[in-house]
Amino acid sequence: MNSKRSRLVKLLVIAIACFSLVFLLPQFPSFPTSPTSPSSKLPNLQPHPLPQSLAKAELQNDAGDYFSQVKATAVGYLVWSKFPLKIYLEQPKSFSDSAGNLRFQQWVAAVREAITEWNNYLPLVETENSELADILITRSQVDREIELDAETGLYKIPRTITAQTTYDFYLSSDTPPILSHQMKVQISPDLGKHATLATARHELGHALGIWGHSDRETDALYFSQVSDPPAISLRDINTLKKIYQQPTRLGWAIEN
Ligand SMILES: [Zn+2]
Repeated sequence: MNSKRSRLVKLLVIAIACFSLVFLLPQFPSFPTSPTSPSSKLPNLQPHPLPQSLAKAELQNDAGDYFSQVKATAVGYLVWSKFPLKIYLEQPKSFSDSAGNLRFQQWVAAVREAITEWNNYLPLVETENSELADILITRSQVDREIELDAETGLYKIPRTITAQTTYDFYLSSDTPPILSHQMKVQISPDLGKHATLATARHELGHALGIWGHSDRETDALYFSQVSDPPAISLRDINTLKKIYQQPTRLGWAIEN
């Protein structure tokens, strides 16, 4: 089977690092104006129809939202439009019952629980083919990047980052090509079961389009780790629903 990304054009990769001591929201670089040829044009910003599962979720106005904290990218909001979304989840390489393998299986089970929770709001399916995945979830350590603060001349060294979500854009192999994105989620192997679930829930929120953080610790997308992590909140869903009503260039065809 041909990969749907046979014409993959990796335009840029942006990361959101969570739970780090020095919290750095990414700066969005300017977007290349001609990803295919000089004559092709990025799709216009337009909203997609609201996914049914989200439309069904009653907007709880009194609960509020944190939409103002969500960043649009150079191509608009990170809205998915082709459902169900395909998620590739890293699996243990062997079936041994070693302690390491059991821990890996526990990690998979916790991440799956988070997928099941979000599936109530946006349709998600697992795929074993990483090439076809919209969202890739891997069990790996996140590299810490040391940054120089230009103002103070000091280096900022982040605390251990337990997870990270990044995205990149590509053009699909459809005719005409569709401006698409892929999300990569890395989750540390060193977290307990409960923390793995909370982290996966939080990172999946980013992968589904909540590109920002809540300032309330009762939301799954709260910017910091808490001792008693909350479930997906009404504010999380209100925010997600607003995002899916915004215009985006993603999911629309490139014009020639
Ligand atoms: Zn985060």
